[in-house]
Amino acid sequence: MTTAQLIDGNALSKQLREDVAARTTALKARGITPGLAVVLVGENPASQVYVRNKVKACQDAGLHSVLEKFDVSMTEAELLARVDALNNDPTIHGILVQLPLPAHIDAHKVIEAISPAKDVDGFHVASAGALMVGRPGFWPCTPYGCMKMLESIGYSLRGKHAVVIGRSNIVGKPMALMLLQQNATVTICHSATPDLKAMTLQADVIVAAVGKRNVLTADMVKPGAVVLDVGMNRNDEGKLCGDVDFAGVSQVASHITPVPGGVGPMTITMLLVNTLEAAEREST
Ligand code: NAP
Repeated sequence: MTTAQLIDGNALSKQLREDVAARTTALKARGITPGLAVVLVGENPASQVYVRNKVKACQDAGLHSVLEKFDVSMTEAELLARVDALNNDPTIHGILVQLPLPAHIDAHKVIEAISPAKDVDGFHVASAGALMVGRPGFWPCTPYGCMKMLESIGYSLRGKHAVVIGRSNIVGKPMALMLLQQNATVTICHSATPDLKAMTLQADVIVAAVGKRNVLTADMVKPGAVVLDVGMNRNDEGKLCGDVDFAGVSQVASHITPVPGGVGPMTITMLLVNTLEAAEREST
């Protein structure tokens, strides 16, 4: 029995963020400072932590970032007006509206109001469409980070079977399209998949993006498979854990991402990459 190699999201992030910092310095020398606006409406405690981390990561890499916090009573029209102002702000290259938004605001409408040129979260339908047809655009940060993790271990997806568990617009579906673009044969599983184990046992690569502990256990994994764990859950002791039974699956897989320290840091890293690229694109 072998133990899987860890794909260390913190180490890879450090490397990629150093590259972002160097490219940012080069852009600044040409008079352009990449700028990210993070918009938060309301007091959701998890969202507050996420936005703080995103702003701090920007600052650490030398990017300009602004955090715009608004009261939960903000109206949809007020938020749309704010997005419009940011679309027209030349110091801002990327706009991120933290989800979830309060129930009285239509999140789709707000995301669609972001200029696709500044959609660094990759959630706009124009970004989703660009990914689908293989045109330049912004890729959603979490699946993009997963692709970088596969690249970091030199993994060629050509001819491999990838199984994605979860079909959300922000993780599962874009993940499947990215894997397909790299010539994997892709299966997408979800809550109506009758026999998940029968699917995952065929996989060379498994991406778990469900949000439930132990969705993937050792008996569901083909020996030597690569396992990426996107899930973020709490165990009985309140500690952060993923969707994958890490102890068991790491005895079967060839490579595995830990939680914490896996996909999570990569998500923020790819946000920095997208923001830098937005600024670089505008400058050319
Ligand atoms: P989501 O929108 O709730 O989607 C979950 C997906 O899992 C759905 O497609 C659902 O199927 C499917 N599912 C639910 N139960 C299942 C089961 N028993 N077997 C197979 N599929 C099942 O969640 P999300 O936004 O994609 O996020 C997924 C997880 O990733 C969450 O834990 C979230 O916190 C985490 N996440 C982490 C990061 C990061 O940076 N690390 C970023 C984003 C999300 P249906 O479509 O049929 O309902």
